[in-house]
Amino acid sequence: MIIRAALSDGAAALASVSETPFLDASLLLARALGASRERVLAMGPEELDETGGSAFRGLIARRAAGEPVAYILGLKEFRGLEFGVDERVLCPRPDTELLVEAALRTARSFAASDRAPLRIHDAFTGSGAVAVALAAELGDSAAVSMSDLSPDALELARENARRLLGHELPAALSDCMEGVDGPFELVTANPPYVTSMFCDGIYASGGKEPRLALDGGPDGLGLYRRLAPRAREVLAPGGVLAVEIGDEQGSAVSALFRAAGFGEVDVLRDLGGRDRVVLGVSP
Ligand code: GLN
Repeated sequence: MIIRAALSDGAAALASVSETPFLDASLLLARALGASRERVLAMGPEELDETGGSAFRGLIARRAAGEPVAYILGLKEFRGLEFGVDERVLCPRPDTELLVEAALRTARSFAASDRAPLRIHDAFTGSGAVAVALAAELGDSAAVSMSDLSPDALELARENARRLLGHELPAALSDCMEGVDGPFELVTANPPYVTSMFCDGIYASGGKEPRLALDGGPDGLGLYRRLAPRAREVLAPGGVLAVEIGDEQGSAVSALFRAAGFGEVDVLRDLGGRDRVVLGVSP
């Protein structure tokens, strides 16, 4: 079989589990052949040998059983950095880059007003994607730390920091920033925000990501309810809380921020026009 045909067969086998079956198939074939995805796409008319073909079929079977491509590859690109990922953490999503962009704008506006080095904490850090991306992009102008409730996730976040930054980031085992002392100028978080009922559906159909990273309780808002008042305690006056949200949670999370005393509450939309980030300023 030629490469192009193998790719289209692979993509067809993934059509019911993936929103991006061709992309997934090409990434998996690249892994099976030890080549780049660009190279694999250019190899269309070439013959796929038996070793490569059987490796590819094995990877397609894993993906078809619901394993995310990022877990199969052990890597996920986020803000241009290759994060190590596996079953210990949620795979970083492109949507979350909006949280990083909002945090960078906030950080740069503080830097301009001479609050350097900025103290930034990323709660619910998971793979460390947000914390490490901020540390990479802000360099010496920020002191970034991170926390997570899962010791397994924290271990991976530490590894990602070491490998991608060349140094450690302070990392605390903590439930919703309990025991994490400020003050901070900026707190970022992508907490679990999927409703428990929706999570039941995800796991009934073979979801592989840790439930701890997704399940935000009956209405999905449980962690924002705890985080908003906690963030008020650790933020310096004028400090900012920036969180990722589900696309139907903009007004509910804004209300929770206001109830906790935050001002200048703002909801930002992602490229698809959906509510994705809420920001608030501590008085
Ligand atoms: N955006 C994620 C998803 O629905 C949810 C992430 C989260 O709960 N923090 O797949």
